[in-house]
Amino acid sequence: MQPTILIDRVRSLVNRSRLLETATQLVSIPSPTGDAGNVLDELDRMLTHEGFSTQREAATHPKAPAVLTRLDSGRPGKCLQFNGHLDVVHLPFVPPSVDGNLFRGSGSCDMKGGTAAAIEAMRVLRDGKLLNRGSILFVAHDLHEAPWGLGHQLDDLIRRGIHGDAVLIPEPLNQNLPVLGRGCVTWKVFLKRSGAPVHEVMRPADEPSVIAAGADLATRIGKLNATLSQCEETLAGKPSAFIGQVHSGEIYNQYPQECMLEGTRRWLPGTDSTVVEREFRSLVAAVEREHRVQATIEWRFIRGAFSLNTGDPFVAAFQDSYRAVSGSPLPTGPKLFVDDGNSFSSTANVPAITHGPRAGGQHTVNEWVDIDDLVRVAVVYALTAIAFLND
Ligand SMILES: [Zn+2]
Repeated sequence: MQPTILIDRVRSLVNRSRLLETATQLVSIPSPTGDAGNVLDELDRMLTHEGFSTQREAATHPKAPAVLTRLDSGRPGKCLQFNGHLDVVHLPFVPPSVDGNLFRGSGSCDMKGGTAAAIEAMRVLRDGKLLNRGSILFVAHDLHEAPWGLGHQLDDLIRRGIHGDAVLIPEPLNQNLPVLGRGCVTWKVFLKRSGAPVHEVMRPADEPSVIAAGADLATRIGKLNATLSQCEETLAGKPSAFIGQVHSGEIYNQYPQECMLEGTRRWLPGTDSTVVEREFRSLVAAVEREHRVQATIEWRFIRGAFSLNTGDPFVAAFQDSYRAVSGSPLPTGPKLFVDDGNSFSSTANVPAITHGPRAGGQHTVNEWVDIDDLVRVAVVYALTAIAFLND
């Protein structure tokens, strides 16, 4: 546990109005996923103006290169990453505004507010010369929000080894410390027959039925799900195969040419996602063969599975800091939704903690974030860095 004097020092260095001004600047620039170049440019300018040296990485997306900054203690050691996405879902733009203790606007909750808090933590560490070992790597990027982005800009950085030894992600999640989460793919299957559209009574007797093929595929996926659900219950649930949509036909008496099914496939850590894909493709291939239809599969990999080793010193550093601020450690829990933590965990086995401000309205036009809680997050981030990096 950090000494009270250090906690007080960190608290006194966090500048609430500077943090809010940063959040306001970030929210004031529209940045729908794929098009976050302007806000990343502005962030680059802002950090450079404050004396941070920045680096830009296109990482598969030259339209909006990611912004990287390092805060180096000057002594070798571990590297803690603060990671934020500055893209927002494609909804009408809502400009920034302050309403009492709430800050509103597009991305205020998800996750420009939290990113501003991480930036404030970095300033605190610099202004107070609080790091005596190692470094902070701050990364802000685009291409987070599906379906417009699939995390591939960040994935590219991680694959190229551009990441910290541990990561804090200020997404608006703070009721528990997520330790386990499923990986996820969304899939779409189109089953087609080659014949022309035809009245049902005119069709050739042996013409393949795409609806029968679709029903068969639905049955097979149901059986797969039943098998998967026999596995032992975990904190993050069980692996699953799910169908959310089936569509075929135009009118009641025309013989349909296509049947479309769409759904998800989720798996737990320890499962190879390429095996998951092969298994699914072989189900579809069997249907294709037996029903004499042609199948097209869209297999969209969202994020790999997530796990956090609670015995990692990084987790202790975070929990100590959280307790110093809030009085007790954060209970552990599941990660119900995938986020960038899944990419760090599944791609590079880097421990990642998603923890951000009290906020709401994500993926709506009514986003908000609690300003006092942004201050709390900045304090927790700075303390975690000190506990993790300084020996
Ligand atoms: Zn987010």
